[in-house]
Amino acid sequence: MTELAYLSDLPAAYVRRFPARVVALPPGGVVLDRTYFYPGGGGQPPDRGRIRSGPAEWEVVDTGRTGPTVIHRLRRRGPPAAPLTVGTEVEGELDWTRRYRHMRLHTGQHLLSARVFARTGLRTAKATLSGVGASLDLEGELSAGVLADLERDLEAALEHPRSVTIRHVPRAVWNATAFAPRSGLVPLAPQVDPVRVVEIETEDACPCGGTHLRSTGEIGQLLLARPVSQGGGGSRLAFTLAEPDLPTPPA
Ligand SMILES: [Zn+2]
Repeated sequence: MTELAYLSDLPAAYVRRFPARVVALPPGGVVLDRTYFYPGGGGQPPDRGRIRSGPAEWEVVDTGRTGPTVIHRLRRRGPPAAPLTVGTEVEGELDWTRRYRHMRLHTGQHLLSARVFARTGLRTAKATLSGVGASLDLEGELSAGVLADLERDLEAALEHPRSVTIRHVPRAVWNATAFAPRSGLVPLAPQVDPVRVVEIETEDACPCGGTHLRSTGEIGQLLLARPVSQGGGGSRLAFTLAEPDLPTPPA
């Protein structure tokens, strides 16, 4: 079992380097006692980066989750080194350029889903992030006429940043509290308890296990594409980061 250290609170999403201990060595990979590498899921791609032990370094080319265990897939870098062994203390370091783009896209997706819902009543059935872009699959047709309003909403969220917070809410409280209506359509698995609720101040609260920004002010400008009709009456709204590599502000 791996401690999913990135989940604990919002500052944990900003941890780029961390100490950990090797607990298992499946073929081609390593399992640590704790990790800040996001193993993928909910439309957010897995993290990449490095793992070091003394002078030896391995590239983490992929991260995946099997039940409660996170496996970091490794490729060795540099000269030959002694193999990792169970019990070795290592340092993990995320590919921060990639991860921070994902945090900006992911938080941008929550905000955009909330604004689409507020303006049209359409909920997001699925969100997908990749590279410097993302898309929302909406439950109905989105009129291109709404785009200008959404662009103004996104500009306002940059000019007047809203804070993002995480709460761990008991399932019974989540079920009983009037968080609905909300912008997401994805059902919550029955075993999820407590519920990790990601909230954008005054905008949206939804269950999510991904990594997010502290504030909408860090999203940067998003470029919206024209909505495209999908089968079954739905539509897809894609967007990209206008500036893929903004600096990370200090906490
Ligand atoms: Zn999220």
